[in-house]
Amino acid sequence: MTESTTNLAAFDAARRVMPGGVNSPVRAFGSVGGTPRSLVSASGPYLRDVEGREYVDLVCSWGPMLLGHQHPAVLDAVHAAVDRGLSFGASTPDETRLAELIRSIVPVERVRFVSTGTEATMTALRLARGATGRNLIVKFAGCYHGHSDGLLASAGSGLATQALPGSAGVTEAQAAETLVVPYNDEAALREVFAVHGENIAAVITEAVPANMGVVVPNDGFNQFLRTLTAKHGALLIWDEVLTGFRATATGGWGLSGEPEGWAPDLWTFGKVVGGGMPVAAVAGSAEVMDLLAPLGPVYQAGTLSGNPVAMAAGLATLGEATSNPEVYATLSQRSEQLQQLLSEALTGAGVDHSIQTAGTLFSFAFGTSATGVHDYAQAQSQEAFRYGPFFQTMLDHGVYLPPSVFEAWFVSSAHDDAAMERIAAALPHAARAAAAA
Ligand code: PMP
Repeated sequence: MTESTTNLAAFDAARRVMPGGVNSPVRAFGSVGGTPRSLVSASGPYLRDVEGREYVDLVCSWGPMLLGHQHPAVLDAVHAAVDRGLSFGASTPDETRLAELIRSIVPVERVRFVSTGTEATMTALRLARGATGRNLIVKFAGCYHGHSDGLLASAGSGLATQALPGSAGVTEAQAAETLVVPYNDEAALREVFAVHGENIAAVITEAVPANMGVVVPNDGFNQFLRTLTAKHGALLIWDEVLTGFRATATGGWGLSGEPEGWAPDLWTFGKVVGGGMPVAAVAGSAEVMDLLAPLGPVYQAGTLSGNPVAMAAGLATLGEATSNPEVYATLSQRSEQLQQLLSEALTGAGVDHSIQTAGTLFSFAFGTSATGVHDYAQAQSQEAFRYGPFFQTMLDHGVYLPPSVFEAWFVSSAHDDAAMERIAAALPHAARAAAAA
């Protein structure tokens, strides 16, 4: 590649060699317009692009950078791991340590590490089918669980219908094994189980949906899922790829009735668990997890699974998060402060909105103050056209937001007063741009 000195030149060069110039679609700024920034470095709460411009980062790599960029403890651990070797393709003590650490935080007995959230949920589905001998999976409209075929099914019309392929290349047969129901809709779930109960292997849900913006589960909804699945002999797959070790110290689990002592059958983790390196995990009871090869008949494998450098990053990140009480206290405080600043700016500019909050996670939706957002249909009905100008104005003022209105904003424990001041100064301009849209 020739040396690029502008974001536009970098994007043009990227487009010549990669589809859309990106390796993950939302990075292309398709729904917000403008030129994607080509990033070269990051530290603390800041990102830097090829033009040398600095942005306060409210994406945090879509969640993993809980401690901010280049946290010294994480860097030290990674450097030490690199010095010992990049990959062995065999077991290491750090894998066991990270599994033990996860087990000390959430009620799981066994952990298998993989490299992406997509692999984790894909493996969870295979385990659920292997454990039950059933084929059907129930998922919620608007929940994202990665890009494996069956999970890229989208809702058909009406309630409790079998899904349609959500992407070219997903076959109707694969989509037909996924049933899509509206989130927070107990009646629709009862209907699905009344019709298909004997063939349902699992219900998969995000611990707190955060891929249609944040949607807060209704009181008792997750307990309802637990009871319903148990009654019908189906498993409950609890996707904490995004929420795990972030929404609270114990993830979405910490918000979902943990004191009442219930647990899902299978969990998936990603993002924070690797601290910015490619790590994800499927976890759960020994009874279900020990069905995995080599002990059981459900096959799963990975050349780079449990990669030693990635394990070091995960261990250091989770180690710091669990041992330093400042981490979650700061995340909570910064998240609340951001919500307040956002709300003040939007209200000041006369922009109707609602904010959805789950622990340290939040998102907002334009034009939804009357109803809030409780499911995908409501998320989609928002005035999404206001987000492009809002986003661009924030970017012009040095704040990097998720380039989609359907995403949570991610803070880190490195977001300090100076970073917050820059956000506070930018927001009123962005709110006026949204009002004018
Ligand atoms: N599950 C959830 C809840 C997610 O938010 C994501 C990614 N945003 C995934 C699964 C897939 O993870 P990955 O992108 O690592 O494949």
